[in-house]
Amino acid sequence: MTMHAQDPDLKEAIGAQTDAAFETVQALYRQLHQYPELPFQEHATSARLAEALEQLGLEVTRGVGGTGVVALLRNGEGPTVMLRGDMDALPIKEETGLDYASTRTAETENGTVPLMHACGHDLHSSCVVGTAAVMAGLKEHWSGTLMLICQPAEEIFGGARAMLDDGLYERFARPDVILGQHNMPALAGTVGHRAGGTMAACTNLSVMIHGAGGHGSMPAQTVDPVVIAAHVVTRLQTIVSREVPPEETVVVTVGKLHAGTQANIIPHSAELEINIRSFDDALHRQVVASIERIIQAECEAGRSPKPPEFRVLNETIALHNDATAVEHVRSAHGAHFGEANLYAMPRLNGSEDFPFFGSAEAGGFGGEDIPYVYWFIGATPEERWQATPGNGVAEKMRHLEMPHSPYYFPGNEVTLRTGIEAMAAGALAYLG
Ligand SMILES: [Zn+2]
Ligand SMILES: [Zn+2]
Repeated sequence: MTMHAQDPDLKEAIGAQTDAAFETVQALYRQLHQYPELPFQEHATSARLAEALEQLGLEVTRGVGGTGVVALLRNGEGPTVMLRGDMDALPIKEETGLDYASTRTAETENGTVPLMHACGHDLHSSCVVGTAAVMAGLKEHWSGTLMLICQPAEEIFGGARAMLDDGLYERFARPDVILGQHNMPALAGTVGHRAGGTMAACTNLSVMIHGAGGHGSMPAQTVDPVVIAAHVVTRLQTIVSREVPPEETVVVTVGKLHAGTQANIIPHSAELEINIRSFDDALHRQVVASIERIIQAECEAGRSPKPPEFRVLNETIALHNDATAVEHVRSAHGAHFGEANLYAMPRLNGSEDFPFFGSAEAGGFGGEDIPYVYWFIGATPEERWQATPGNGVAEKMRHLEMPHSPYYFPGNEVTLRTGIEAMAAGALAYLG
């Protein structure tokens, strides 16, 4: 594998191409930011991105897996490198005070909700366009195929599978390596890497507990699902403390507990939503099984008239970066940004549907797994970073807004530029 990214001329060339594309990409970013859309409803966003990629001369296909966009830049013999950005936004009211802040809302089954790009997916997909521009301008420096995708519905872990199920690898190309990135509260201009387990597997589970409702004054004639649910919530706490080995990281959170309408009515049922996270797929299945066992037993103990119902709302697998590929990309990033601008990424309890693209089994595409590298780009401006207490990324991160906060804003110039250059240098590490 040649290491062109270490070539000082190439470093300068990437910088110059990024300079040339920057204003256009920044304008695109601001446009996307102002117009957030919910998962699988990224119609305007994907149309805008497809148009921008077409203008750069790429072969663009719309509507892959719903609103997904696939763009190919073919440049002779060589490997296929897939770069992934995501597009969806969140039901959050933006409080950043930016002059291009979102004021959009959407109608959902829960009524009107405000919308915000609070996870920076607008930044990721803008960086994909920026990288396309850089790579199109550097064609004499590389050969192979660059496959760029803008993915819908990451926030509900739906878009990666939707694109794969729509024949992403059969219709376009099967990549040799997959690269992705996410912004985070680290110093803008820095890039973080981690080999192996990097983000958690996640399951969101809905549980319906059945009781027998009645008058609040006559509990003996009812089966009270509120009491059963209360026992369930308490008993679930024993999974992490008593059933999981202490060296493992597992989270079990009951994020929703809903029953009843008023004080003098014993309700008929109680509904829970449970969030489970871990870094080991086998352990993850064991924890989900424990949750079901405990809830079934509590329902029986509480005389529930019928068994509880479980429904997986959505789930994703753990993100395990390929060690060899991480080293390869990290070394290209080191050559491009300087070693001082790289950091060791701490493990995150957050989750992603990106790993489906690399997992033959979970992604449902068969054959061998595909190695992938998912890195992190710092989004905190220098001044803010210096003023934040703590040493290093893990400590400072606790004092900074995280993605999904109404105040979170990763789209400063340095971060946008770093995201473009990190993707271009990463791709060139394979195609150069
Ligand atoms: Zn998010
Ligand atoms: Zn995100």
